Amino acid sequence: MELAKQFRTMINKMQAYEYVFSLLGWDSNTEAPRESHKRRAEIMGVLSQELFALQTAKEYQDVVNQLYSEIDTLDDQLQREVKKAKKALDKVINIPMNEYVEYMQLGQLSQLVWEDAKQNNDYESFKGNLKQLIEFNKKFALYYAPEKDPYDTMLDDFEEGMTSKEYDAFFGQLKDELVPFVREVLKHPNHKYDSFINDSFDSKKQEQFCDYLIDVIQFDRNRGLMKKSVHPFTWNTSPEDVRFTTRYLENYVFSSIFAAIHELGHATYEQQISTEWDNTLLHGGTSMGIHESQSRFYENTIGRSLEFWKANLGKFKEIFPEQSKGIELEDMYQAVNRVEASLVRVEADELTYPMHIMLRYEIERMLMSGEASVDELPELWNDKMEEYLGIRPETDSDGVLQDVHWSGGMFGYFPTYALGSAYSAQIYYAMLKDLDLPKLIENNQLEKVNEWLKEKIHNFGSSKTPKELLLEVTGEEFNAKYYIKYLKEKYSELYL
Ligand SMILES: [Zn+2]
Repeated sequence: MELAKQFRTMINKMQAYEYVFSLLGWDSNTEAPRESHKRRAEIMGVLSQELFALQTAKEYQDVVNQLYSEIDTLDDQLQREVKKAKKALDKVINIPMNEYVEYMQLGQLSQLVWEDAKQNNDYESFKGNLKQLIEFNKKFALYYAPEKDPYDTMLDDFEEGMTSKEYDAFFGQLKDELVPFVREVLKHPNHKYDSFINDSFDSKKQEQFCDYLIDVIQFDRNRGLMKKSVHPFTWNTSPEDVRFTTRYLENYVFSSIFAAIHELGHATYEQQISTEWDNTLLHGGTSMGIHESQSRFYENTIGRSLEFWKANLGKFKEIFPEQSKGIELEDMYQAVNRVEASLVRVEADELTYPMHIMLRYEIERMLMSGEASVDELPELWNDKMEEYLGIRPETDSDGVLQDVHWSGGMFGYFPTYALGSAYSAQIYYAMLKDLDLPKLIENNQLEKVNEWLKEKIHNFGSSKTPKELLLEVTGEEFNAKYYIKYLKEKYSELYL
């Protein structure tokens, strides 16, 4: 079919630009010397303009619209691709050019303003930018879908098919069941022998342990690699080239270990996607939430289990004999699952983490509906922090200014973090029906776990929506009760 062929050629061309663009991004975050920054930014500027021109070209619009008009005659794969292409196109072309340019400039400026504001604990200087970012995003959402609640449009951008109604129900359940439980756990601190975690750990040796973890997770080294960066992340262009990073903090060894396992979760997902989706719009993981479900499954369900340390404490002791002297399995298990009320999301433990997300979701929701204004934000943030975790930030840098997301105009992103953890629990209970998971973890036989995930989730790339996937894997729609059950079981045993 001629039209389909044209579509494929155009997609291939865009993906070639994306490939180079993205490789420059990897380079700048890992290997590139400091001073290379300026020239690379120029090159990236040129490439991004070219890419934008291709993505919005009249010929491309015609092909997509034509295919869309005969969508029922297309095969399943092409149908899903065309729907995705049409959606992405409609998001951009309905925005007047001058507003789009203004927004891009605002976005870049706001990042810098936010960095300074965070550094200087000066929310007032960022407030105006934030207000503009909110207004632009609302306006753009309404251009795309005038009949829809703008926040719903934003939520769908990050997790296809999710609405504020569903998130309200999810976070409502967490609020009712988890807030009192977390309060209870926090009353029973249990930090027996874990002061060793803040000893000094040589970063070369940390690297050695993280390298060992690559083989524990059975990540394919021929199709991937590990580097270090300031903020850990996973990067990929196809299942044959998947890279991830971790970071080494001398006085907090768990940072590198759990960042590595987390990213190995993302990376294993990408590595196990079928190559049949290469050169299509169905390549890569299907959504933020499903991606995060995989990283958190490896990090928390596997990496913070008793069985995992039964299998790997020996290696840890071999690499860090001094620091781990006298540390028994139970001590390690307690240490990796230490629960604490903390102010900063990225440092939060598995149990208190969803509280941080719930707070952000509720605030975004109020900002988007006009129920709250940017003026009241710091106060609102601190009150909720106190309500959910019993602590109050002393500075806005540790409060409302801590995350980068809003300064980049990303509203609707945060809830996918909690959703991913909850998906992960639902998938975990489904997996238990087929596999003796504790035994596999204890014997370092994670290839069986990888296979199960490949067959049920990874293989499909983005050819299925998150909702379709979850239903097929677990036999039911999203249900938060599994997440609550998982957390209560694990942390009651540890703390109560
Ligand atoms: Zn992640």
